[in-house]
Amino acid sequence: MTVRTRIAPSPTGDPHVGTAYIALFNYCFARQHGGEFILRVEDTDQLRSTPESEQMILDSLRWLGIDWDEGPDCGGESGPYRQSDRADIYQRYAQQLIEQGDAFYCFATPQELDEMRKEQQARGERPKYDGRGLLLSAEEVKSRLAAGDPYVVRMKIPEEGSFRFNDYLRGDVEIPWEQIDMQVLLKQDGLPTYFLANVVDDHLMGITHVFRGEEWLPSAPKLIKLYEYFGWEAPVLGHMPLLRNPDKSKLSKRKNPTSILYYQRMGYLPEALINYLGRMGWSMPDEREKFSLDEMIASFDMKRVSLGGPIFDPEKLDWLNGQWIRDDLNDDQFIEALKTWAFNDDYIRPLIPHLKGRVERFSQVAPLASFMFAGMAEVTEAQFDELKLERDEIRRVLQFVSWYLDELRVWDKDAIFAGLKALAKAMDVKMGGFMPPIFLSIAGTTSTFSIVDAMQMLGPDLSRARVRYALNLLGSASKKEAKRWDKEYRALER
Ligand code: GLU
Repeated sequence: MTVRTRIAPSPTGDPHVGTAYIALFNYCFARQHGGEFILRVEDTDQLRSTPESEQMILDSLRWLGIDWDEGPDCGGESGPYRQSDRADIYQRYAQQLIEQGDAFYCFATPQELDEMRKEQQARGERPKYDGRGLLLSAEEVKSRLAAGDPYVVRMKIPEEGSFRFNDYLRGDVEIPWEQIDMQVLLKQDGLPTYFLANVVDDHLMGITHVFRGEEWLPSAPKLIKLYEYFGWEAPVLGHMPLLRNPDKSKLSKRKNPTSILYYQRMGYLPEALINYLGRMGWSMPDEREKFSLDEMIASFDMKRVSLGGPIFDPEKLDWLNGQWIRDDLNDDQFIEALKTWAFNDDYIRPLIPHLKGRVERFSQVAPLASFMFAGMAEVTEAQFDELKLERDEIRRVLQFVSWYLDELRVWDKDAIFAGLKALAKAMDVKMGGFMPPIFLSIAGTTSTFSIVDAMQMLGPDLSRARVRYALNLLGSASKKEAKRWDKEYRALER
């Protein structure tokens, strides 16, 4: 048997370090066994999936040195590798389950289901689908289908007993069936949910081992039950521990940047970042901290994964990155790495028009543009205190700006500016007061070229991180404030 593993990202946002982490372990497992590693795009959420996100995820994984044998970009024998191109396959399999009596049509409207849940809650029960679709007679189903009534397909779930399975990393896991809902498999739009698509694809693509995040553990019963219904052998399943912030909470972008692009823009070496991810819950047999991807594969042993939540600590990553820069780059390589990072035509060209009109000597260029080649802006609290707005008002502005930038999908200077202007107006703050805190956060000074141009060039990850950094510097929102501001922010008319 050839070992085949996969990473199955959903292209709904920035390329997440958690995706790279899970990809890394699946990749090492496959390579160590002389097997194959597949990339499959799970884009069944049509509203949130975008081709841009897919591209960024692929590029980021490649940047980190992870490559795949089959995928949407390079093809392979089990394609297509994008779920939106496989809709008819899932419909066929959903039909099979219905015919076998393992799945059923449900015509309940969202309002009806809402009422059902409210009644359950009023009775003090856990809200759960009550199986009403199962009560319909075959004739009723037939006539409602003929009438074109909208429906979903749900899977049957045993009513009693417990589900048990052996997790590759956790051993015996037991989950009572009572906790499991009759999962929707096919949505009203005819597209599958994660559960159906994931099982069908892992089977058709010959996946033998699935290592995925701990957050998916509660869904294991449904997945394995589906394999049973189809009469297929389920792959070996193992649930990796979640990455955590230094305060042990789940890694989230509110506390730590989570986008791989952020780490790229900050000037980390891909070798260092992948090395650091390899140390999340795993160690080399000799406990050495610095190792390459090839070295990791050579010494890989999945059973050495420890389940205590690994802490993703940017300070430790800094230390490791420093080691890589010192030990692994000779002067020529250092220059090359710098060029790849930001000292290249593509990065510098858009800057030139902003510098040309402002300098009289080349010796002024570096000081003027230094913030474009930095991580966080060099800025102090005192600089904010000299601004027109009161400190708390500045904090509020920066918090709102930060939320706004987080939401912004099109990263382009005109869009950024239009959004900021609308935000200022809605907050009833004059642009003269509103913009300087943004200048300071991004550039560390109020006297520089157009800040939205700078933001466009710096990119969303670094720009967002700088605003967040400034906000932390001035004291991020207390719990009470956060609640109040959140409410105000949502109520703004923009
Ligand atoms: N599309 C899922 C995700 O984005 C894949 C989970 C799995 O590996 O089964 O995490």
